Amino acid sequence: MIEGRWREFFSVHVPKAKRGANGWWNGFCPFHEDPETSRSPSFGFNANSGGWRCQGCGEHGNAYQFLARIEGRPYDKDSQEDLRWARSVIAERFPELARGGMKKKRSPGGVGTNLSAAEIASIAEMQNYQRGMSSE
Ligand SMILES: [Zn+2]
Repeated sequence: MIEGRWREFFSVHVPKAKRGANGWWNGFCPFHEDPETSRSPSFGFNANSGGWRCQGCGEHGNAYQFLARIEGRPYDKDSQEDLRWARSVIAERFPELARGGMKKKRSPGGVGTNLSAAEIASIAEMQNYQRGMSSE
């Protein structure tokens, strides 16, 4: 089962995430002061695509960019070197995820799963924008 494949990856850094709709989970943001006592957590990630966005600090990106932010490392999405770095870290920490479960399967969201994770993430991000989830 590939559904929710990014959940574990994010859960390590996003405490008490709660399931929302369409693969989205909401939890507390690791990038800004998002006290667990606040009523509504501001960070959302998509466990299927790896896309994420914070309503509080406005940060957003794909799973690789998330990893880089956590590690305090710059990440250029056009850089092959950065991409290789992100993949190798994920392969090390989340072998299941890296092995990909990228097998062909029908995706209810209509996003082909033979796309790379980064591609899926950027699609999810675009859809996100289109839905006007931005609070600006
Ligand atoms: Zn935030």
